[in-house]
Amino acid sequence: MIEFVAVHKFFGSLAALTDVNAEVNRGEVVVVCGPSGSGKSTLIRTVNRLEEIQSGSVLFEGKDVHAKLGGTALNRLRSRIGFVFQSFNLFPHLSALDNVMLSPMKVNGVRRSDARETALRLLDRVGLSAKAQNYPAQLSGGQQQRVAIARALAMEPPAMLFDEPTSALDPEMVGEVLSVMRGLARDGMTMMCVTHEMNFARDVADRVWFMDAGRVLETGAPVDFFRSPQHPRAQRFLSDLH
Ligand code: ATP
Ligand code: MG
Repeated sequence: MIEFVAVHKFFGSLAALTDVNAEVNRGEVVVVCGPSGSGKSTLIRTVNRLEEIQSGSVLFEGKDVHAKLGGTALNRLRSRIGFVFQSFNLFPHLSALDNVMLSPMKVNGVRRSDARETALRLLDRVGLSAKAQNYPAQLSGGQQQRVAIARALAMEPPAMLFDEPTSALDPEMVGEVLSVMRGLARDGMTMMCVTHEMNFARDVADRVWFMDAGRVLETGAPVDFFRSPQHPRAQRFLSDLH
């Protein structure tokens, strides 16, 4: 569903991605891990074209994301890929409910009453029915991140990207966000997640990708990756965690 073919990306002379070849299949949960600066964010951001690439291709549902696309085509593509960042980026002047309702109404022309019904269902799914009328400033970090997930889901994307969704949160709020992500995985969502939560990777991922210096050095089932990483760099990364 998301395919990287010989992807190369430079920032000036810095090779941020080098010959990345890997695929996220439909319904699969992939956790991308690796040291700081290894290219995890850059890689995930190429999927909805927040980063351009210099060569190779990134395919989403078989379509080349980096082909020449008009603005409308690019927006349509982006609306099919849910993206949740480290910072929640909710609209501060809108309630939780209105944050979730906005894109379906504006981008997809969904009727207000239908958007409201969907938004209430999604807020319930992330455990925030009681907070629908709260503004972002009246929500905890974990609650804001769950609204951000509900907002992404409101567009009914066939795949979700997560870039360190819990790393800006106080420790006691990490669990509630991970549990929403676990629920999505259980429901069969295709997910590509950059995270340092190795327990999440162990329990939820179908595959773990290990990156270092812009390359995907290893992809494996979590049981194999955590028990017997093949690449020396991956071995070092995992032993440094303990
Ligand atoms: P972290 O775990 O710290 O988030 P990461 O694996 O997500 O790291 P990236 O943010 O993808 O790493 O960065 C990969 C490399 O590209 C790093 O060397 C980084 O300094 C560089 N880089 C990232 N964004 C830019 C940019 N906009 N301009 C120049 N260099 C950049
Ligand atoms: Mg990053």
